[in-house]
This record gives sequence, structure tokens and C-alpha cells, in this order.
Amino acid sequence: MRQLIAGNWKMHGRLKDVAGFAAALGAAPAHIDLLVCPPFPLLVPFATALAGTAIALGAQDCHARPEGAHTGDVAAPLIREAGATYVILGHSERRADHGETNADIAAKTSAALSAGLTPIICVGETEAERDAGQAEDIVRSQLMHSLPPGFAGVVAYEPIWAIGTGRTPSVTDIATMHATIRAALTTQLGPTGATTRILYGGSVKPANAAALLALPNVGGALIGGASLAAADFLAIAASAPRG
Ligand code: PEP
Repeated sequence: MRQLIAGNWKMHGRLKDVAGFAAALGAAPAHIDLLVCPPFPLLVPFATALAGTAIALGAQDCHARPEGAHTGDVAAPLIREAGATYVILGHSERRADHGETNADIAAKTSAALSAGLTPIICVGETEAERDAGQAEDIVRSQLMHSLPPGFAGVVAYEPIWAIGTGRTPSVTDIATMHATIRAALTTQLGPTGATTRILYGGSVKPANAAALLALPNVGGALIGGASLAAADFLAIAASAPRG
């Protein structure tokens, strides 16, 4: 299967950055699927700049309702109208900053699917949970409670302690966790779970990408910091194996 290389811009980026970044992505390798997830106000300008390319666009959150009195939130159908086809849900920064629970994420995931968006559901343990030997149980529980019945989308394993820190789990630990996620998805979703893309996220850089992306059950990467520089983002994409 082709790998998905996804950039999460978080709360970075300005209007002036869009045209140059989109133009640089013209050099993207053809053997992977590339996705950019900028802040909401950059979705429409990015959609315009990427029109006619194969590069996909995603948001970083959506509300669980299609419309309503929810000041400051953004509905999934509007995100779709803005040109996005993906949405990241349950990122650990949203779980921490906004108190999002697995049940919130399941509701948002259903809303995203109803709006025609492909959800990317983030799961991952804290360092204390890993040290206590609980990482796999935590991730299994997050999957069990964050994915609604009939889920069809992407899962991203992002150990919280690896995000933005320059640290990553060992390749053995990543392979073990991805095998655990594959088994859980197959149990939960049946045949769909056997082919669901499982991304790795957490301090993926050009220097470590080839080793991480070559691991079994790793179907791509979710990239924060290194996705802000087009050259690094493209270097990571180029190091992905051919599916
Ligand atoms: C992320 O925020 O999803 C992420 C993986 O960040 P970074 O690549 O900067 O660790």
C-alpha cells in the first residue's frame, strides 16, 4: 500500500507562506500520498494553491455537530467545503489543551465520516505510562473508545513523549506497538482493520524517516516540526518505501 506522509502544521504558518510551500511541493515524489494539515484559515488558500495537484489537504480538528451555537468551533461539512479531505482528531495536544476524551473523539470521528472526511485518529501513551509497562493497554483502550462502529480512516500512533522532543521509541518498540494496533484494529473492524493505514508520529526527521517508515505495519508518518520546512517534508516523503 502507498504510504501517507502527513504534515501537521499545528498553530504555525501565515498566509504569506502558502504559495511558496505549495509550489515547493510540486517536487513531491509520486510513490507516496502527501497531505498538508494547516490551521483553519489557511485551508482555502492552500486548496487554491494545490488545485490540480495530487496533494491532499486536512484540518486539525472538527466539531461533533454539523452546525450550531458552538462559538469558535468549526464543523466538518464546512471543512470539506473548504477543500479538505482529511481531518486529524484526538491529537494529544487537543486531548491535553481542550480536555478531549475518547468519547468526544468518537463523536467527532462520526461527524467527519458523515461529512466525507477521512479521519486520522491519534493515540499514544505518556512517558510515565510507558515506564509503567502500560503503553499497549493505554493505546488499545484509546482505540476501543475513540473509533466509532464502522470506522474507516487512518490511525496515527504518536507517543506523547516523542512529540516535539527529538526523542523516538526504539524501532523494536515502534514495531511492537504497530503490531498491537494492527491486531486491535482487526479485532474491532474486521477486514477493514487489516488494511487501515497506521502512521507513526513523534520527532520524525529526514535522518530517521527511512528506518521508521520501513517497519512492518507502518503505513506512513504524521509529522509536526519537520513538516514546516518543505525541503525536510519532501526528504521524509522521498525516504518512504514504495508500496
Ligand atoms: C505531531 O504533532 O503530530 C508531531 C508528530 O510532532 P513532531 O513531528 O514535531 O514531533
